[in-house]
Amino acid sequence: MDLLSPRPSVGQIKPYRPARPPRDGRRWIDLSLTHNPLGPSPLALDAYCEAATRIHCYPDWDQEPLRHAIARRHSIDVDHIVCTAGSEELIHLVAQAFAGPGDEVLCHERGYRGFLKAIRAAGATAVIAAERDMVVDVEALIDRASERTKICFLANPNNPTGTYIPADAVQRLRAGLPPHTLLVLDSAYADYCRLPDYSDGTEIVENSDNVMLIRTFSKMHGLAGLRVGWGYGPATVIEAVNAIRGTFNVSLPAQLTAAAALSDAEHEEATFAHNAQWLPWLSRELERVGLRVYPSVCNFVLARVPTDPSLGIQAVIDHLARRGILVKAVTEYGLSDCLRITVGREEENKALVVALAEILG
Ligand code: PMP
Repeated sequence: MDLLSPRPSVGQIKPYRPARPPRDGRRWIDLSLTHNPLGPSPLALDAYCEAATRIHCYPDWDQEPLRHAIARRHSIDVDHIVCTAGSEELIHLVAQAFAGPGDEVLCHERGYRGFLKAIRAAGATAVIAAERDMVVDVEALIDRASERTKICFLANPNNPTGTYIPADAVQRLRAGLPPHTLLVLDSAYADYCRLPDYSDGTEIVENSDNVMLIRTFSKMHGLAGLRVGWGYGPATVIEAVNAIRGTFNVSLPAQLTAAAALSDAEHEEATFAHNAQWLPWLSRELERVGLRVYPSVCNFVLARVPTDPSLGIQAVIDHLARRGILVKAVTEYGLSDCLRITVGREEENKALVVALAEILG
């Protein structure tokens, strides 16, 4: 018998190890992660360099300047914000604080896989509701809720499907869930979606006592490497997360750089405009070379590769790799014939389409 063993649910976790470009001296086009192709804002870079002179100091434990910057930018109450080392940390902290062994946590079928890891790390049981053609099915989520459901995670828009559900559907979900269930709205890609029927969930948080919003600086703000996320929610949730988070969980450069990024509206607009131009272009061109593209409101698309038995998806991935292009296989989502492709810079998008046309004919 092993003397030392983690909780059984921890044993079920398969660590996520994203593919990365081989260190072979070539300049890879990496469209496998959801990076901002324009990089970080110049104002953020300046703040980062300035912060470097102060890294002998501990960061602000209560994250005050950053929370104030977020509150100002989003017109929300500073006392209901908490910041974390990426939104992934916040997802884990919420799962740990609100669910444990014997509890159930709801997720959707193709929902962001970080939820499952956090649920298992907390020792709780994941209950997975079916989706409909890559779109969250609110009624299916409500049907799976029980008196043991402590949390319901909703990624809206979702990764890797790129699809979203409108604000009225989120309201229906909240109304249909039991009052003891915390609805967590993970709006990591909200900045890319300006459709009139979409909301990141701010108002629903303000009008309920069991809903929280999660956002990140990793996508639109181009700070994925810095690790900053934040949450906005009821006092009970913010207090619980503050109680269990590391005292200095968001580093000093991370706090100062993220705050500066929020003041660069120009960079945000440039990022939005770039995506608004190249997302439809990429979707159209991928369809033209034979892929089925799901409608995305994010900075990536999910595309089904034609299932010609003589040409498996691995052959497509290998061909792209020979051309120095990396895309993401999404087998962990049960989507063995799909790729998630991030919108890159103009030349990257064009190189991808040329390489795909070469192999798909
Ligand atoms: N939520 C969703 C939906 C995501 O796609 C990701 C990153 N892939 C995260 C949360 C975590 O992002 P980060 O930890 O970089 O904030």
